[in-house]
Amino acid sequence: MGLLTPLAGFAVTFRQMFRRRVTTSYPKQKRTKPQRFHGRHVLNRYPDGMEKCIGCELCAGVCPANCIYVRGADNDPDDPTSPGERFGFVYEINYLRCIHCDLCVEACPTQAITESKLFEFSFTNRADAIYTKDELMVGDDGRPRQLPWEDWRAGDDEMTSGWMRATSPAGDHRYEGIVQWAGELGYGVRDPERGQADAGSDDGGSRAEVPSEDK
Ligand code: SF4
Ligand code: SF4
Repeated sequence: MGLLTPLAGFAVTFRQMFRRRVTTSYPKQKRTKPQRFHGRHVLNRYPDGMEKCIGCELCAGVCPANCIYVRGADNDPDDPTSPGERFGFVYEINYLRCIHCDLCVEACPTQAITESKLFEFSFTNRADAIYTKDELMVGDDGRPRQLPWEDWRAGDDEMTSGWMRATSPAGDHRYEGIVQWAGELGYGVRDPERGQADAGSDDGGSRAEVPSEDK
């Protein structure tokens, strides 16, 4: 090893000192999360406060990680919990297993389960990692409940219940400019997405009419 070799190494370090830093001081500084970020789930309500979940268990059936546990029960006709015959009596998601693939969101027929942008949480015991129905259910104002082990910053809880299909039509540029997010109780409504046509499209970039049944 010649005398110049370590100097060449220092030169590399020295050069980096004048370049733009690409790292951030996480967790003090957080980057803006992508629009379709898949964080922890929320269970949603209708504007009248009724729960959207009808206890059908489709989400549990489709989950590749087998981490959802649902038990449905018949609604009390005099005091129903959901508009359907049944409601989600027990609902649990095990976040030690969830891979945030969003298939449960895709499978749900009522948009009851959606994924928020909240993902910064850690657990010191297994019980905390299994979110219960009470913990997942949004409040009366449509907002998620913050749990003691979740790190939220200002604005992190916004747009938590927005819903977007992972597959088409969301990825189809013909839906550009049309709101695909389902804000719950008026909270979490987002602007329509832009840029699909520019980013490459399903049919080579030509504009086409949106199917009328999806309008
Ligand atoms: S996001 Fe995927 S892994 Fe997680 S609960 Fe839903 S289906 Fe299961
Ligand atoms: S969240 Fe949706 S798919 Fe899962 S049990 Fe409830 S209604 Fe069915």
